[in-house]
Amino acid sequence: MGGSSRVRPPFRARPLLPMTPRPRPDSSLALDRLAAPAALVAVLAAAVAAGHDGRRALQLLALALPMLLWLSWPLRSPALHRLRGAMVWAGAMLFVLDGAVRHYLWSQYQAAPDSSMVLGALANSRAQESSEYLRTNAPDVLLRLVPVLLAAAVLAWAVQGGARWQALQPAWRPPRRLVAGLAATLLLVTGVAHASKPWRRLHPAVFWSQWWDSAQQLRAGWAQQLQLRERTLAQAREQAPTLAFDGPATVMLVVGESINRDNLGLYGYPRDTTPRLAADRARLGEHFAVLRHAWSADASTLPALHNLFRFGQGERGDAPHLIALARAAGYRVWWIGNQDDMALEALHAGLSDQVEMINRRPGRGGDTLDGELLDEVGRALADPSPRKLLVVHLMGAHPHYALRCPPGSNPFNGVDDAVDRQLQAAGRSAWTRAARSDYDAAVRYHDSVLSDLLGSLREAAPRDGRAAWMYLSDHGQEVGHEVDRAGHSATTAAGYRIPALIWRSEPVDAAVTTRPFRADWAAWTMADLLGLQWAGRDESRNVLGAAYRWQAPRLGVAVASFDR
Ligand SMILES: [Zn+2]
Repeated sequence: MGGSSRVRPPFRARPLLPMTPRPRPDSSLALDRLAAPAALVAVLAAAVAAGHDGRRALQLLALALPMLLWLSWPLRSPALHRLRGAMVWAGAMLFVLDGAVRHYLWSQYQAAPDSSMVLGALANSRAQESSEYLRTNAPDVLLRLVPVLLAAAVLAWAVQGGARWQALQPAWRPPRRLVAGLAATLLLVTGVAHASKPWRRLHPAVFWSQWWDSAQQLRAGWAQQLQLRERTLAQAREQAPTLAFDGPATVMLVVGESINRDNLGLYGYPRDTTPRLAADRARLGEHFAVLRHAWSADASTLPALHNLFRFGQGERGDAPHLIALARAAGYRVWWIGNQDDMALEALHAGLSDQVEMINRRPGRGGDTLDGELLDEVGRALADPSPRKLLVVHLMGAHPHYALRCPPGSNPFNGVDDAVDRQLQAAGRSAWTRAARSDYDAAVRYHDSVLSDLLGSLREAAPRDGRAAWMYLSDHGQEVGHEVDRAGHSATTAAGYRIPALIWRSEPVDAAVTTRPFRADWAAWTMADLLGLQWAGRDESRNVLGAAYRWQAPRLGVAVASFDR
């Protein structure tokens, strides 16, 4: 400042508090008083923006207003000042942690904390799993602690700058009416926010305590599901299914995920996405059937699997369950899955004798490759039980497609071929076209997993018995086929067009391959492959049977023809 000394005002108001540590220059007081609330607002706004968007972000900020108002209320006592600082800091940190956790869950799993997936994982996880999770994700979690700690430090500084009584003597003070009007408006806004129940529920303190309660309720609900499972198994025993043949049998049901048959070379796709299965088909001849016109009846995983395992009668409370029937008939059943889903485990996998989940990350955001479950499949196939059913549940080509094959193994990336030109001609965006190449790479990797699974089953097939393998996808996928987007699709046919393949130790009638087929009837065909016989068996829904009678499923979209 060039050494020039500040000109002191001739008269300085005596501080009201004698304990003021040291006099401060008046001009800095106004700045101080703005810097603290500004820092608080900035930290809160950043935290809220990380965890919420749009209207919700504004609602959350309204819920944070009382802290700001309180902080600008002048306090006389240093003890009260400190107490208030601690309380506002803790309150603001709730918002910071809320934003950080929500942001983490969204970027990792595309899930909100109160989604069934996250709640289920919480209710489902034991202490050991939680610590395992934290250990495997430590770098990511630690990285996210940096902004949280930074926010904690800034907030600690900001609350110290809360209004003090002596600071009410600055050179400039805003007009009383303006202050009163502003305060009244803010009080009104935050009053409305706190009075409205759906609004109030967003407050981190309210939200996270309710979140914890919900998880506990879910845990209690599982006790009921356990009962349901017991009832399903007991019902199956009452049906007393028998086997149509003597001798050992090994059967594998492979359930793919989000596979559209139009993207399989085996089904005529111009890109070579199924070299292994094409070779298998050439080698295995009449034992290997490609069902050309296969459809799912549902466009998402849970309803699709529910109908698949419950013989297409998912809405009936007492519908039989394929796994329960197989067990009642003397099969030992394995569920080997790459999808850690609480509902799947409770409703289907849990009915098996043995459940092996190779992917302990909840939901479908995990990146464990399907090929990693081959070892587990090998162990099950080596089991000495004479009759074995293996249900293998894959991640297939579930979004994000790029996670579904080993990194750097995308032969379709940036290629200029007939498929890409056709997508361009249809006006698909660069994003959709890139998604298509990732998708096709995932399908090509899927092909190798399917071929490996079929190969290991055929190797382990009992010499003096039967073996059978069935593969289908739970539903299809839209990847720029009919519209310019990628993902699950209940409103385009692409969401329902699935592949279905059968191999068995006896030949399959060639006529079967041109019959339209629906995935929610697959259990009737599986019952045939398993040789199950019981009073409720319906041959008109078994695609392998002579009495098969096609009925079109009611889909979420009108389909011109089921024969295409
Ligand atoms: Zn699915």
